[in-house]
Amino acid sequence: MKNLYAFDFESLKEEMVLLGEKPYRAKQLFQWLYQKEIDDFSLMSDLSLTFRALLKEKYFLGKPTISDTQIASDNTIKLLVELNDGHKVETALLRYRYGNALCVSTQVGCNMNCSFCASGLLKKQRNLSVEEMVGQLLVMNDFLKSINDEEKVSHVVLMGTGEPFDNYENVLRFVRLINHPFGLALGARKITISTCGLVPQIYQFADEGLQVNLAISLHAANNKLRNQLMPINKAYPLEKIKEAVEYYLLKTNRRVTFEYLLLKDINDSIRDAHELANYINNLQAYVNLIPYNEIKEKDYKRSEMSNVQIFQKVLTSRQVTSTLRKEFGYDISAACGQLRAKSSG
Ligand code: SAH
Repeated sequence: MKNLYAFDFESLKEEMVLLGEKPYRAKQLFQWLYQKEIDDFSLMSDLSLTFRALLKEKYFLGKPTISDTQIASDNTIKLLVELNDGHKVETALLRYRYGNALCVSTQVGCNMNCSFCASGLLKKQRNLSVEEMVGQLLVMNDFLKSINDEEKVSHVVLMGTGEPFDNYENVLRFVRLINHPFGLALGARKITISTCGLVPQIYQFADEGLQVNLAISLHAANNKLRNQLMPINKAYPLEKIKEAVEYYLLKTNRRVTFEYLLLKDINDSIRDAHELANYINNLQAYVNLIPYNEIKEKDYKRSEMSNVQIFQKVLTSRQVTSTLRKEFGYDISAACGQLRAKSSG
């Protein structure tokens, strides 16, 4: 038995042909699975009974199950979902004025070892499959329906647990799947991939010809500090990231976002702001300043708001555009990995 959510559109077409069916079956199925979000073959009323029986015999519609939920006072919804093999990952819905962004996990655990991050408390156990990533989205939409919330997921950010570019093939298939016009049809510009800076994959991604947003977690603009915060910097230091970003800009003509987490007395001085401005210089990029979500396993503290404002002023004075990320779900364990850590700890 195969999980039907594992197929992107092209592979589903091939699968249907192998089954002796016409390729248009893929379109019909995509509409049921992703537009009507029906997860029961018997309800697919425009498919003949014999075809439905064949589907039931060969395939199943497997989604993760919800094992814990948290809803914050600002309506941030966090779900802990359980996968087939018992592993659990988090997904969170963040409410913006422009829509509802789902933060999707891409791996069970993470090997990048960023010193401030809760996700890395669990080493990578494995990559998530396409159906497990699309499953997070479908389960969130189901959950919204179950609480009579009329909203749906409208944006996807790959900023949950895991390093998306360390699971490159599945992540790209997932992105193409949710982008497909016969399916969920999420516009490429409504999808953001966030990476800690895996340089070879930045080049590869630049060549994909996608209009998907790219965000790079920088958090420091000098190698000494970045080596401490993000050990991956030893393999791919700032100069290499910059070259890759220049290539990306050339190929795609899309601006990149640099994420910059503000950690008290670590990377939030005026000097740090100037260093960041120097690094960006005339790159087509803007900065997303992120308030740190403190976690009990780590000693880092969030920067004082007054400091954040000064930091941002320096950037502005240096013609670097920046936004301060809205904070979500402050009254639930909103930072990456915390709900899972709570459940297993
Ligand atoms: N591995 C990818 C995506 C997952 S993390 C990446 O590194 O970009 C998504 C973002 O959340 C990253 O910028 C990460 O550095 C940041 N982050 C991690 N822990 C955090 C915390 N406790 N508070 C706020 N942001 C955090």
